[in-house]
Amino acid sequence: MASIDTTIQLIRAGAPGTTCSPALAKGPWESDAAPEPGYGPGSSMGDILPTGSPRQGQLPAEYKDASAIELDARIVAAKATLGDRVVVLGHFYQRDEVIAHADFVGDSFQLANAARARADAEAIVFCGVHFMAETADILARDDQAVILPNLAAGCSMADMADIDSVTECWEDLARLYGTEPDETGRVPIIPVTYMNSSAALKGFCGENGGIVCTSSNAATVLEWAFERGQRVLFFPDQHLGRNTAKAMGVPLERMPMWNPRRELGGNTEAEVMDARVILWHGFCSVHKRFNVGQIEKAREDHPGVRVIVHPECPMPVVDAADEAGSTDYIRKAIGAATEPTVFAIGTEVNMVNRLAAEFPQHTIFCLDPVICPCSTMYRIHPGYLAWVLEGLVRGEVINRISVGDDVAVPARVALERMLDARPGA
Ligand code: SF4
Repeated sequence: MASIDTTIQLIRAGAPGTTCSPALAKGPWESDAAPEPGYGPGSSMGDILPTGSPRQGQLPAEYKDASAIELDARIVAAKATLGDRVVVLGHFYQRDEVIAHADFVGDSFQLANAARARADAEAIVFCGVHFMAETADILARDDQAVILPNLAAGCSMADMADIDSVTECWEDLARLYGTEPDETGRVPIIPVTYMNSSAALKGFCGENGGIVCTSSNAATVLEWAFERGQRVLFFPDQHLGRNTAKAMGVPLERMPMWNPRRELGGNTEAEVMDARVILWHGFCSVHKRFNVGQIEKAREDHPGVRVIVHPECPMPVVDAADEAGSTDYIRKAIGAATEPTVFAIGTEVNMVNRLAAEFPQHTIFCLDPVICPCSTMYRIHPGYLAWVLEGLVRGEVINRISVGDDVAVPARVALERMLDARPGA
């Protein structure tokens, strides 16, 4: 099976096929050169990078002009020269041409922990998006440099909740709820942030009695929060929050959504007072594309198909699927299937295609028939990887992501609470 990058390049050259956004048909360097680079498919907040987001500098021409074969050879050579001084991390959603050079492949939290296991590495090159590199930096030693090969690789979902809007929301809620615990000792509200959020929001949670969650442990974390609070403010992904809380028995009418652009998030005072989980108005542009029609078609075309979707998908999609779970869950579920099975998967297409290649005994396909990689992950072109690795060989650290102690210290508190939270504990 051709890699997604090869497929997109063929479509660019005129081969039949479609991608989910014209942004993908642009050259790999165009988003960096544009004066106001946008995020591409499905992004929100006016479809522009938020103010203050880091901007990628111009990549030297020698990397832009190099062929795929030359870039591959240069990356291999630079890694061989650096040896144990560098560790390259590749998120599941990266293109094959980058994954080929990763020392570890996994989800964001698995990768941040994998980096910790490489104590000798002076540099951690994170082929993922900005919030992942921040988390790796929070968990890394001070003398380890975390590098994001392309600073334009943000996450549109993470940027849907910024620290100023969340702080304003928190102040509104404090005015309504007060700050005093009830007779059982539970505070009025606990902030919970998904791993896919800025370090500033993880720090906010650390400072305000809150916690971080991943898509693997969201139910455990919500239980932890309900033991300590009467309500939860969940950001940035409304879908993960809704799907998880619904499965725990929280009624939908007690999960109002908070739109930061509207008074009281667009809710009445009574709705906010009655809330059990307040859901931030955020979503993943990749997972939002999945719909119930795609599942119905998969069932029609492949009777007996097993449909597994990521919990960042909208609730009707999760309800219509056979199972929902994190990238790790999806991998393990496929790996555990003993009989040849047809799997229809609702997550990012690079990961699905790699699973199909890894488990040829099964038929595995992406529910979305259109080529739609995560457009911001896709910004880690091998040219950037070669650039930062050759920089390290010269002794130059390019695109370092560094989280100041004022944020990193409370963010670590929120991450440690997550690690300590145990089901039913
Ligand atoms: S797949 Fe969605 S949540 Fe993940 S990095 Fe891309 S936009 Fe963000």
